[in-house]
Amino acid sequence: MAGEPQADCLFCKIVAGEVPATIVRETETTVAFRDINPQAPTHVLVIPKVHYPDAATLAAAEPQVIADILRESREVAVEDKVEDRGYRVVFNTGAGAGQTVFHAHLHVLSGRGLQWPPG
Ligand code: 5GP
Ligand code: ZN
Repeated sequence: MAGEPQADCLFCKIVAGEVPATIVRETETTVAFRDINPQAPTHVLVIPKVHYPDAATLAAAEPQVIADILRESREVAVEDKVEDRGYRVVFNTGAGAGQTVFHAHLHVLSGRGLQWPPG
């Protein structure tokens, strides 16, 4: 069923505590943890506890949860003391855009200069 945990999904396993992660925040609907291969001093992934393959699918099914994710991105920035300098939020969607884990996740990046347009 849509939203149900997927046995073969890495991020469902992190939500379930079956795969360790450096968790920085948790709410009723979301988990935020440090990326294992950080691309910036602050590189945190904010994910829904429910499983959807990408952000738009999540938004269509459970719009409140994607709002929770965006709200949490600010809390991550505040806790890492980067809210004032600014931070980038990214949903890679589809393999061609660099998505490698097909459980919706928001990248929160900051702590260094961030080029625009992105690569
Ligand atoms: P994507 O490329 O799908 O947008 O982002 C997936 C992210 O998950 C990558 O930045 C990758 O470094 C991160 N990642 C992959 N496996 C793990 C893991 O086991 N633990 C953590 N904390 N991050 C992971
Ligand atoms: Zn999942």
